[in-house]
Amino acid sequence: MKIYFKICLLAACLAATGCTADQTNSPAATNNSTNSTMKFPFQKTEAEWHKTLTPEQYSILREANTERPFSGKYWDTKEPGVYRCAACGAVLFTSKDKFDSGCGWPSFSELAAKGTVVEREDDSFGMRRTEVLCANCGSHLGHVFDDGPAPTGLRYCINSASINLSTNAADTNSPAKK
Ligand SMILES: [Zn+2]
Repeated sequence: MKIYFKICLLAACLAATGCTADQTNSPAATNNSTNSTMKFPFQKTEAEWHKTLTPEQYSILREANTERPFSGKYWDTKEPGVYRCAACGAVLFTSKDKFDSGCGWPSFSELAAKGTVVEREDDSFGMRRTEVLCANCGSHLGHVFDDGPAPTGLRYCINSASINLSTNAADTNSPAKK
């Protein structure tokens, strides 16, 4: 737990920096331009994204910003269910893989199914991290780190604003179903 805490503290500092950074010149904005060069099955125009997402969701999902730690709706949620992409509805994570990392963002040790996310190297804020994007729509979800619990050793650190928890029985029983 100590190492989680230290890393999370660092992440929290980075997130705080992100919140105060000039949006136009931020590395996140640069990332977003890279986004457009990748092709994803589920696509919308910028105008459509603006219409269907809240300003906070747009800022995180489409501009790769980060919500403040301990501020999102799911960082401490233990309710059973599946977590869908807030932009396109694809199933990404399940509650069985959610764990308490203490870092203030929802953390998962595993994906709901192989290939639900794509990874991309992210060099913003002067450090190398691995960004996690929804494989269906390309929206920014968060980052993955290699300090998670066994057996995967992974920690998917995800913004609450990027996901929606679905608690209905059909979803809970077949987590990989879209
Ligand atoms: Zn998506």
